[in-house]
This record gives sequence, structure tokens and C-alpha cells, in this order.
Amino acid sequence: MFGFTAPAPLAGAFFCARQHVRGGIDPLSRYAAGIVGSSPNRGAFSQASNRGGMTSFDGVVIGAGHNGLTLAAYLARAGMKVAVLERNAIIGGGCSTDSDRLPGFRLNLHANFYMGMSHCPLIEDLELYRYGFSYIEPPVQQAAVFRDGTGIVIHKDLDKSCASLARFSRQDAETFRALWHTYCIEMRPLLASLLYNAPLPREQLLDRLSGPQAKELLSHAQHDLFSVVRKHFVDERIRTLFTSYMHVITTENVAGAGIVFPAIFANIASFTLPVGGAVSLVNALARVVEAGGGQVVTGADVREIKVESGRATGVTLADGRFIAGRKFVASAIDFPATVQMAGEELFPAPVREKAKAWHWGNHSLVTLHLALRHAPAYRAAAFDPEIARAYNIFFGMDHIDEVASCFEDCAAKKFPKVLMGNGACNSHFDPTYAPPGQHAAFWWPFAPYSVDGGPQEWDRNRKDYTQRILDYWRVYASNLEGDNLLGSTLFTPLDVERLNINMRQGAVRMGAYVPSQLGINRPHPLLPGSRTPVEGLYLCGSSSGNGGGVNGAPGYIAATAIADDLRLKRTWTPVPPPEWKH
Ligand SMILES: Cc1cc2nc3c(=O)[nH]c(=O)nc-3n(C[C@H](O)[C@H](O)[C@H](O)COP(=O)(O)OP(=O)(O)OC[C@H]3O[C@@H](n4cnc5c(N)ncnc54)[C@H](O)[C@@H]3O)c2cc1C
Repeated sequence: MFGFTAPAPLAGAFFCARQHVRGGIDPLSRYAAGIVGSSPNRGAFSQASNRGGMTSFDGVVIGAGHNGLTLAAYLARAGMKVAVLERNAIIGGGCSTDSDRLPGFRLNLHANFYMGMSHCPLIEDLELYRYGFSYIEPPVQQAAVFRDGTGIVIHKDLDKSCASLARFSRQDAETFRALWHTYCIEMRPLLASLLYNAPLPREQLLDRLSGPQAKELLSHAQHDLFSVVRKHFVDERIRTLFTSYMHVITTENVAGAGIVFPAIFANIASFTLPVGGAVSLVNALARVVEAGGGQVVTGADVREIKVESGRATGVTLADGRFIAGRKFVASAIDFPATVQMAGEELFPAPVREKAKAWHWGNHSLVTLHLALRHAPAYRAAAFDPEIARAYNIFFGMDHIDEVASCFEDCAAKKFPKVLMGNGACNSHFDPTYAPPGQHAAFWWPFAPYSVDGGPQEWDRNRKDYTQRILDYWRVYASNLEGDNLLGSTLFTPLDVERLNINMRQGAVRMGAYVPSQLGINRPHPLLPGSRTPVEGLYLCGSSSGNGGGVNGAPGYIAATAIADDLRLKRTWTPVPPPEWKH
């Protein structure tokens, strides 16, 4: 229903996007506070709460990122009075949109590519289109361009993708077609079930998934990231595309990480752009919370989760105020911080140890945002003109060894010799991202948090790093200079952490994707289905329940758990549990 497949890319895309804003709300109108840099609602409860002086709610949610707001929105619809408490002056967390750094241009500082939206239950369940959220799914989805001027293009149209891949390897094109049928079509509902249900212990999972196809799916767990790509593809350039694509979600190249391949592949042609900015999603969710009588409060820095007689009863803010959660407290921030706030002694030793050893990841992203007159002109468009219409664009790596070198440098805390990563020119698809007739483009190569001696080096050498990234980008795009370049700004891994305290060390996913932090291990098998040993305390942030990236899964899973525990009347039909016997 949300997919865009009409041939005329721009006009069609807008028609499609707009038709979902049925309530006629400008995505940015009410929650301008969600845009970084605009006059935010600082340090106070929202007007309604100031009037009522409310400090007691059915439930309290810590953190107004999209997961905390998802949980609050579902429970508000189920009749709970919920407060969502956000320490920053703006809501959104990793779904923020900046309008100050390059005035007139909207920059998504964190998430830009919302993936798999057509399988995301939130959109329909919460009627987000009525509250101002819509997205565009461009027909030319992704491209990888190379130094020799060639490029691979992934379309929404399978035949077109295969034709592009076949220019590099016919065998890989056929493999791609087979994988598409398996993971993007046949098993796609299963992958959504796995995402939106609480992760299961291995034995239970094996019980539910049997038959040759399921066996093949699970066999990916034998691989690391590189070997899983080598297993499927033979051409070096096609391999570089897939290894970088998998690294993008902060998966590390360790044994067992290959298990993420099917789920990632399933989204290869479902990259979407949020209309008006990434923040439009959290603004819509906040409106749902408020429509259900809840409150979203900024400048509310939670310091402690109050536990009385083994039960979470509320939270204490940095300014000393106590906000009661009569029925539940849900934490949408990172797992280690949650354990600290509630009191380590309340968790079993293995959980405490894991919280202390949480792996934030070896690589983060450094983003160069550009204000341009004309969109980047990629040289490889001469090889395939569709590259000029591609949404997500990868470059910097021609060979799998270069991918490996980039991640070795990141792990060694060095500015990578090989800069590689992906980016987009959002204004090409949604003109609201830039002033009329101009363009907003970004590229975010992989980079370490601590660089060349420490994280502070990002600040000290900002100009130099900016120049090095721009020079690299210019190898692939011919017009990033002179009159065409109106401005630039660099958003570093240190800036990521500054803006979002739970993205520690610039952790893009609130904790790396390594087997010990995936599935039932995210965060720990002793904390299954969002529940904790503390009665009434739930986890709903990205370091829990299949979290990481913008999918709302941890918020959704926790909302279902709380609704079950409190015997609430659900307003939604839960995504069916995973089952596959073929
Ligand atoms: C550079 C970059 C690019 C990315 N690109 C993509 C992408 O293209 N696609 C994608 O899907 N994902 C992407 N991500 C990841 C994505 O942004 C996150 O996974 C996602 O936003 C996390 O959502 P969340 O709700 O779980 O947590 P968050 O968005 O981090 O929300 C948590 C909130 O809690 C608040 N908080 C923390 N501590 C407290 C406290 N003590 N009291 C009160 N509030 C508190 C924080 O301020 C924050 O607002 C990217 C991330 C980065 C850094």
C-alpha cells in the first residue's frame, strides 16, 4: 500500500507521499521542538502538565526516541495515561532533523533511510498518516559506484536490478533473483514475525522453524559477514556492495554475524525517505500519545528508577522531582544505563557483567552534509543513467580487501585510509529538504569514535577531516566545488554521542550487532520479552528486543508485553509469532 512504483519518479513520489497525510497536518507543524535548533520546549512539562501539575501517571517512559514513543503511543491507545520523559530539549533521539547547521536545509543527523516500512505494523496500527507521517519509496533504490566509472543499481523492479548486476556477473544476477524470491517475497512475512515478536531461545526457535528453507535461513549463522557474502556472490564489486551494506547496520565481521544476511537482504529494495525529515516519525508518534491523553516532556533528565519492595514505582529527575508510574516504568534508553539507574544489585550477576562489558561497536559514522545548487553528479551515471536517480548511494570501495582495510583501521582507532560508506541527496526526492531549486546531500563514511589519539581529535581536526572526506567524494562526483558548493558541515561520532547520550561512543545502534548482542542475547537471555527481574520495569530501547535502526520493534514488543501483563484491551492485532515448516 505504501510502496511507490509509478514510473514518473518525482511527481509520482509526491503524489504517493501526500496521500498518506490524510489529516492534512504539516509533518513539522506542532512539534517544531523536534527539529534541532528551532526554539524547543525547554525544561518543562508540556502546557497541559503544567496546568494540571501532574506528576503521577499509569506509566512512565524514559526517553522520547521513536521506540519510547512507540510504546507510549500503543499504550495510550489502550487507555493508559503515559508520560514520556526526554532529557534533551528536543524529542527524537536518533530520528532528529537539524535546520540550523546549514540554514534553509534540513539535515537528518542520524537515521535517514527508514527501511521495511511496508512491513512495519506501527504505521497502520497507530494511523501515523493521520498524524503527519508519510514517506517516499524511490523506484531506483540503491547504487554502488566505482572508481573506474562503473556502477551497480538496485531497483524496486527485480528485472532491472538483475540486468544491472548481470553487467558484472550473470551468475550473481541469478543468485540475486533467487534470494529475492526467497527473502523479499516468500519468507518476508516470517522475517517481520521474527522482528516484531520477542526473540526466542534457540531451542524454541528451532522448534518453530523447520524444513529445508528454514534450515538454509539458519545456516547463515555459520558465517561471518565476509564469508556469507562470498557464499552467495562471486564478483568482487558485487561483494563489496553487500559487505558494505551489511556493515552499515553496525554488524561486525565476526563468526556468527552472517545470520543477519537474510533480514538485511529482505530490505534491499525497501529504503524509504521520511517526508519533511526523519523527525516527522517521532512527531507523529508524540501526537498519538497526546491524543490518548499522555504527555511528552522535554528537559526531563531521568537519574534514578525508583524501586520499592521489588517493584518499579516511578523515576526521579535530575532536578529532584519524582514522577510516579503507577503501573509500569519502561526504559527506552540503553541497557547498561538502565541497570545503573534501577540499581545493579537488582539484576543477576551475568546481567550485571554483560551491562559492564556491553560492546558499543568498533565503527561509527562521520557525516559530511553539503548544501548545493545542483545535486551531486556521479561520473558513473555515464555508465548507467539510473545512477542519477538512485536514493542510497555507496562508494569508496572497489574491492572486498578495501572494505576489510576500512574496518581494520576503524578497529585500530585510526582515520581510515579507505573511506567508504553511503549517502543520499534527499532533496532530489522531497524538495522540502532544501530551499527551492537547491539540494541537500550527505555522505557518511565509516569512522571510529576515538580517532588518531582520542575522540577529541574530531573537534581539533574538524577542518582537515572535512576536506579529506570532500576530496574523496569528489573522486566519484564531478560538481562538488566552486559555485555549486554553498556550504558544508561535519557531524562526527563525537557529535553523535553529544546529541544522544545513549549512542555511547557514537554507537549507531545502541550496541553493536555481534552474536552475543543479537536475538535472545539482546540484551540478555535472562531479560526475555522486554521484562526484567524488577516487577513493572520493562526495556524498550534499541539495546533490547531486536532493536537497532528505525523499526520500532523494541517499543512494539514491550507494548505487547505490558498490555498482556496488565490485561489491557489491545487496540491492535499482534504480528503473528514466527512459524516456518517448509
Ligand atoms: C549517524 C547515524 C546514522 C543512522 N542511520 C540510520 C538509518 O539510516 N536508518 C536506520 O534505521 N537507523 C539509522 N541509525 C540508527 C537509529 O538512529 C537508531 O537506531 C534509532 O534512532 C534508535 O531509536 P531508539 O528510540 O531506540 O533510541 P534513541 O533514538 O536513541 O532515543 C532514546 C532517547 O532517550 C533519551 N535519553 C537518554 N538518556 C535519558 C535520560 N537519562 N532521561 C531521559 N531521556 C534520556 C535520548 O536523549 C534519546 O532522545 C543511525 C544512527 C546514526 C548515529
